[in-house]
Amino acid sequence: MENCIFCKIVAGEIPSPRLYEDEYMIVIRDIEPKAKLHYLCLPKTHFALLSEMDAARAEIVKHIFATIPTLEEKLGLQDGYRVIINQGENGGQTVHHLHVHLLGGEKLSDF
Ligand code: 5GP
Ligand code: ZN
Repeated sequence: MENCIFCKIVAGEIPSPRLYEDEYMIVIRDIEPKAKLHYLCLPKTHFALLSEMDAARAEIVKHIFATIPTLEEKLGLQDGYRVIINQGENGGQTVHHLHVHLLGGEKLSDF
């Protein structure tokens, strides 16, 4: 997807250290961390919203959620963390390539 910053990161056009990578996803640090530890899980294929789900995308989202718990120790999240997917305007989504935020490394404030 042209002009998508996360597609550019996935393609390696914008350098961003990958803390984890497999066939379907990468994990990077958020450039503006909102907690002591703040990671982004990016699917390697572009789609913006959960409402654009189809069978193939559902498999990717399932894979991301199955992988997150296997990374807890590696990412320093073993004491707990928050998982967030911002959706659209009201959800505060600023990058329109679906991604999962992982926030932790400290006790997070209540909503
Ligand atoms: P959203 O608001 O769309 O859910 O989250 C987008 C996130 O991407 C924000 O937390 C923002 O700090 C992060 N971000 C935006 N541009 C970049 C970038 O170039 N590199 C990295 N690592 N994170 C980015
Ligand atoms: Zn993209």
